[in-house]
Amino acid sequence: MHKKLFIPGPVDVLPEVLEKMATPMIGHRTKDASILQKSISEKMMKLMYTKNQIMLSTTSGTGLMEGAIRSCTRKRAAVFSVGSFGKRWHELAVGNNVPADLFESEMGQPTTPEMVEEALSTGKYDLVTITHNETSTGVMNPVKAISDVIKKYPEIVFCLDTVSSLAGTKIDVDDLGVDICITSTQKALGLPPGMAICSFSEKAVEAAKQVEFRGYYLDLLSLYKYIQKKDHQYPSTPSLSHMYALDYQLDRIFAEGLENRFERHFEMAEIVRDWAEDRFALFPDREFASNTLTTIKNTRGINVGDLNKKLGEKGYMISNGYGDLKEKTFRIAHMGDRQVNEVKELLELINTLI
Ligand code: PMP
Repeated sequence: MHKKLFIPGPVDVLPEVLEKMATPMIGHRTKDASILQKSISEKMMKLMYTKNQIMLSTTSGTGLMEGAIRSCTRKRAAVFSVGSFGKRWHELAVGNNVPADLFESEMGQPTTPEMVEEALSTGKYDLVTITHNETSTGVMNPVKAISDVIKKYPEIVFCLDTVSSLAGTKIDVDDLGVDICITSTQKALGLPPGMAICSFSEKAVEAAKQVEFRGYYLDLLSLYKYIQKKDHQYPSTPSLSHMYALDYQLDRIFAEGLENRFERHFEMAEIVRDWAEDRFALFPDREFASNTLTTIKNTRGINVGDLNKKLGEKGYMISNGYGDLKEKTFRIAHMGDRQVNEVKELLELINTLI
């Protein structure tokens, strides 16, 4: 039996979107491939509210995170972490011999503008990474206030991880001054895993030009130059199957309407937050709680593994806490094409099991 997924990725994919993955192949050096890629770029620019170049990567989101920190750090990266995926940026830096410092918040707390100001005022850094939506703790960072600080430092390349939030909540890339905004297909976009997407600013291009060793497959400058020179084509063979599905799914997203889509995510989040506060407690402060997933403090000491097993028998699946937060928290995702009535259905079912 297929379990209805309330996990923070991969999410359920609508059958009509999955079907697009089975579109017959075309040559990746054909005019049709350029048309497909241009079409995706234009739609992604609209979804990201940006005029910057859109780049696709046949990797999951981590690939573009690695490419970004390696390709664009000239001096030193300031990595702000509010959980496991923030720390990943630091691991990527260390693994690529990129100088970087890690600034961690207490679990469940956001990155504050003050922390960013304090680090950047040292003048040691030329690249910053921020996790917009931390999938382990369920914290959505106050990105507007953070971006106001970053804007005071024009040398900074601003990398934003929106892997688990883009397409579920508004991220105005140009207004925030984000240079590299990264997302994955398997979360709020509502597609199968296997492709990542980023925006890439002129500032990021100029920064990368000053970095000698940018790797090869994830060298974002070479990707950028190739796309520009070869009419939106890619240096290596991209996952055309994902691209067909993405192009189609973006049409669906605009047909729903961006404001409606963000509102639906907010509404689902509010329902889960109200329920969590009634039955358990929220892990982050409500002010910083994510609109795409909710991390719930296991105040009743229930066995989350057992609950999930029972839910599984009824055809549903939620997530245990991530890493150290396992059993201490659990997570309910409400993203992608999940609907308000489905979230209510799940919560009613959990009420009968706890
Ligand atoms: N950042 C965040 C916030 C994530 O949730 C994830 C995946 N769970 C990643 C990065 C890594 O993305 P991917 O699995 O697509 O490589």
